[in-house]
Amino acid sequence: ELILAFESSCDETSVAVIEDGTKILSNIIATQINSHKRFGGVVPEVASRHHVEQITDCIDLALNEANVNYSDLTAVAVTYGPGLVGSLLIGVTAAKTVAYAHQLPLIPVNHMAGHIYAARFVKPLQYPLLALMVSGGHTELVTLTAPGEFHIIGETRDDAAGEAYDKIGRVLGITYPAGKEVDRLAHLGHDTFHFPRAMDGEDNLDFSFSGLKSAFINTVHHADQIGEQLSREDLAASFQAAVVDVLVDKTVQALHQHPVDQLVVAGGVAANQGLREAMTARLAEEFPNIDVIIPPVRLTGDNAAMIGAAAHIELAKHHFADETLNAVPNLNFQHA
Ligand code: ATP
Ligand code: MG
Ligand code: FE
Repeated sequence: ELILAFESSCDETSVAVIEDGTKILSNIIATQINSHKRFGGVVPEVASRHHVEQITDCIDLALNEANVNYSDLTAVAVTYGPGLVGSLLIGVTAAKTVAYAHQLPLIPVNHMAGHIYAARFVKPLQYPLLALMVSGGHTELVTLTAPGEFHIIGETRDDAAGEAYDKIGRVLGITYPAGKEVDRLAHLGHDTFHFPRAMDGEDNLDFSFSGLKSAFINTVHHADQIGEQLSREDLAASFQAAVVDVLVDKTVQALHQHPVDQLVVAGGVAANQGLREAMTARLAEEFPNIDVIIPPVRLTGDNAAMIGAAAHIELAKHHFADETLNAVPNLNFQHA
């Protein structure tokens, strides 16, 4: 079964061809990061215009690279939320047009389900499983009781982990998105500042990163005022240690309450080397029988391959949309 998948929820325009939900025949990703860098974040109007400019080329490239024609396709899939409404609409409109023109079923996909199902490219999933979803807009612990059945058991009460990375990165003079560079700096420094680990050890599975962000910013501003030069490497290492400690501790806490055979770490922040190492080491020690699945770095950020993987689950259930499909910017798993 061949799915042509679209992703345009934020600042990546991506089109992929996926075979049986598990094999990537092509995964074209056109990023707009250079256009948004100078504004320090994604500008919605700029993002929509880029999607319009890029999407047709992405379709052609994806089909060409996969060596596939429209007549070979089984279905078309698209992210319809969550995300920026103007950005989502470009993908939704393109997918509807292709589906209509070529008489193909249209599969609506939740972007967060896509992040989690990127794990299918690593190995077959077994249910129930636990997913730690860490991205630019979300930080959640999610159990999957069956394919496509998501239950949020913990979530951030304020900032998402990726958002915190981007905000403290800015204070260090790193351009958006800052996660990768903060991660690199962190490996060159040490946790000398001991920032707070909010909600760690509490009897719940929720997260909070705004206090950590404020502590970081206050530390840097205070040093600036008294003319003290702080080590950027140690600042990054201290921030990352606090984030990673909480993410790993809460995941372990969730695993004690929800027995599973597999843990999936998903979303843009799953690219973080510190998190990948700490999670793998801690589980090997405490839950040696649980498989830790973390997609390769190139599949942790936004891409259409993951949307094709998630769509294949919906295809089996015949969950199709018609030409009235609309973007749902605040889509959650209850809608899905
Ligand atoms: P969402 O998926 O919640 O809708 P999004 O699609 O904008 O949000 P992603 O593309 O999944 O988010 O992830 C982007 C985020 O990942 C950014 O905040 C970025 O800084 C962060 N990120 C990327 N690489 C790393 C890394 N190595 N370490 C930490 N954070 C990282
Ligand atoms: Mg992005
Ligand atoms: Fe994302």
